[in-house]
Amino acid sequence: MRLIFLGPPGAGKGTQAKLLTEKYGIPQLSTGDMLRAAVAQATEVGKRAKAVMDAGQLVSDEIVNEIVSDRIDAADCAKGFILDGYPRTVPQAIALDRMLERKGLKLNAVIELKVDEAALVRRMENRVAETVAAGGTVRSDDNPEAFKKRLMEYREKTAPLSDHYARTGQLKTVDGMADVEAVTAEIDKILA
Ligand code: AMP
Repeated sequence: MRLIFLGPPGAGKGTQAKLLTEKYGIPQLSTGDMLRAAVAQATEVGKRAKAVMDAGQLVSDEIVNEIVSDRIDAADCAKGFILDGYPRTVPQAIALDRMLERKGLKLNAVIELKVDEAALVRRMENRVAETVAAGGTVRSDDNPEAFKKRLMEYREKTAPLSDHYARTGQLKTVDGMADVEAVTAEIDKILA
């Protein structure tokens, strides 16, 4: 099972992807998580990405394309994977199409979580409050200013991906405003 989740920051992509990893026994590949790990380890990629990420902007296509291409070659991706937060631009989607073709792999579906943007800021604030209450570390880009920038980047650069995948016939749209269980049930129906 090879899936892509599309949707603005805070739409619930990560939550749904995690649930599917258990169901299908495949990993969730979040480019955001991979980049945050690179920043924490202060690798070359991490050093290049940190300031861009903190400002809520997108890291270069070259960096993320390479990270994903290497990652999907790993043994734990043999049965499939869920891409969460990638592709994020039309050039990334085209690079992914070519990458999968080269590797002889096909996507099963692209699932878009549709949400009301006003609710996203509230979700981000709740996520921050929950993280603080649990004694966790808040993401450095989970603040109103960077979040607004991330939403703008989504509208400008990632939203056009819906058209890209609608054209290829792979796009499935789900109401991301419903509660977690209802969203999961919708996704299950699509994948059944
Ligand atoms: P996320 O955890 O998906 O919200 O990603 C956090 C940040 O990592 C984004 O705001 C970007 O700076 C960077 N990032 C993650 N995935 C990508 C991607 N596919 N292309 C470019 N930048 C990315």
